[in-house]
Amino acid sequence: MKRRKAIKTMGLTTAAGLLLPNFFQSCKEEEEPKPTIEYDGSIIIIGAGIAGLFAAQALVSQGLTVTILEASSRVGGRVKSLRGFEDYPIELGGGVIKSSDNSFYRLVQEMRLATSSLAGEGKELFYYNSTLKQAEDFTNFAGFQDAQNFINGLTNYNSGSKTVLEAIQADGIETDTYRILEAQIGEVFGADNNDIGIQALANSLKLSGSSDEEIILSNNPLEDVIYSRFAGLSDITKFNTKVTAINHSGAEVIVTTDNGEFTANKVLITVPVSILKNEQITFSPALPVNKQLALQKIGMASALKVVLKFNRNFWGQDVKYIYGGDVVPAYLNAGIKTSKSNRVLTVEVYGEDADNLTSMGDEQMLAAIIEELDLLFDGQASANNALIDWSKYDWGADEFIQGGFSYPLVGGSTADRVALSESVNKRLYFAGEATDIEGNSGTLHGAAASADRATNEIIDSILQTL
Ligand SMILES: Cc1cc2nc3c(=O)[nH]c(=O)nc-3n(C[C@H](O)[C@H](O)[C@H](O)COP(=O)(O)OP(=O)(O)OC[C@H]3O[C@@H](n4cnc5c(N)ncnc54)[C@H](O)[C@@H]3O)c2cc1C
Repeated sequence: MKRRKAIKTMGLTTAAGLLLPNFFQSCKEEEEPKPTIEYDGSIIIIGAGIAGLFAAQALVSQGLTVTILEASSRVGGRVKSLRGFEDYPIELGGGVIKSSDNSFYRLVQEMRLATSSLAGEGKELFYYNSTLKQAEDFTNFAGFQDAQNFINGLTNYNSGSKTVLEAIQADGIETDTYRILEAQIGEVFGADNNDIGIQALANSLKLSGSSDEEIILSNNPLEDVIYSRFAGLSDITKFNTKVTAINHSGAEVIVTTDNGEFTANKVLITVPVSILKNEQITFSPALPVNKQLALQKIGMASALKVVLKFNRNFWGQDVKYIYGGDVVPAYLNAGIKTSKSNRVLTVEVYGEDADNLTSMGDEQMLAAIIEELDLLFDGQASANNALIDWSKYDWGADEFIQGGFSYPLVGGSTADRVALSESVNKRLYFAGEATDIEGNSGTLHGAAASADRATNEIIDSILQTL
């Protein structure tokens, strides 16, 4: 991590609080500040995404000895920014902060970064009945209204274990609305409607209080925020260190990596749930049965993000979402408030839609998207070589992520998150978005909250032994 560069990027001129004047440095040893918790043991954190970094920062600030093992060559995990593409920050992973009452948003506030709210801004266009219009233009269409009522009633769903699609079918909703429902449910929760368990989804929405907030950073790539805020952790982070096995049978936990062996008294695991599901880290002894069962009830589908820059905005300066496409269920214009040129559309697809696009190869993928936009906007997407730049990130192909974010499968419940989050013998601890127990899995703030929870568990267990 290039600390000086990160500080410069954030516009900070000095590492406030870190450069101590000489008279502080001349303090006698006995006057030096002591760690808040005097613990001789050590803690390993696996993964340097939001959860790992938040936890590390909190534990280090208590004076605890922490090492972060990160498989990739960078911090941030599923936070990844695209640089120099347009006149506003473009995020290839997590980017929209979906609640302002959490430690992730508080970090943004502490850093006094300019933010902008997308909630309630701009128009939403729906492709329905072979036309592209706003919801109010379809008030006389019962099929469209049924679909919107289904979405509005999602939180209160209480009709048992089904997929979202089965529940839609059971309600007899018109099939013409299915792509809109895919856009407004499946894509929002990171998978296909025919994979997501609706009961567990509804329960988690109820638990979280389902905030409608959509906060984005106006000027700063989220990745730079992470680099800058957690720059102090660079000395304790070992990059390119993929954990392959954890032996917790002895007095100390032994962590095997492709970069040597490490030991610690406590280990916090923050890797994506896909890594645990695919058994890419083996545990000895094996993880408790309730955790293994929970892993079977939580899914993580493929995820693909594509950003498309056109030579002009042809979809409407005030249009934020375009719903209902066959190729791409939801297009987002994330620059609606922040961009002067306002000419980038973002495609974020999960599950089957992501698989379909990635299997095409880049040329065909772009052709399919342009063809769809041509259909929606009277041939304007291909007219005058309108597409001038593009970029993509295939999260499913990222060796250390392997998908988008966690979602509940049929038969799952919020109890799965609790089981996954529980410590094993107060030596193995679990954090990361999938272990959030407050209904905010799959989010930036859920990942941060899981770190707060795990950090408290670790500190409590240490304090009990002192
Ligand atoms: C395309 C996309 C869009 C999203 N959009 C939003 C959004 O708008 N708003 C929102 O709130 N959330 C969004 N999210 C979700 C959000 O990004 C995540 O919930 C959050 O970043 C997860 O953080 P984490 O710390 O739990 O996991 P991660 O960020 O995945 O961190 C885990 C780390 O573990 C490392 N690792 C993996 N395996 C190993 C191993 N064996 N050994 C060592 N290290 C390992 C990984 O390299 C990674 O750095 C989006 C996610 C995606 C993919």
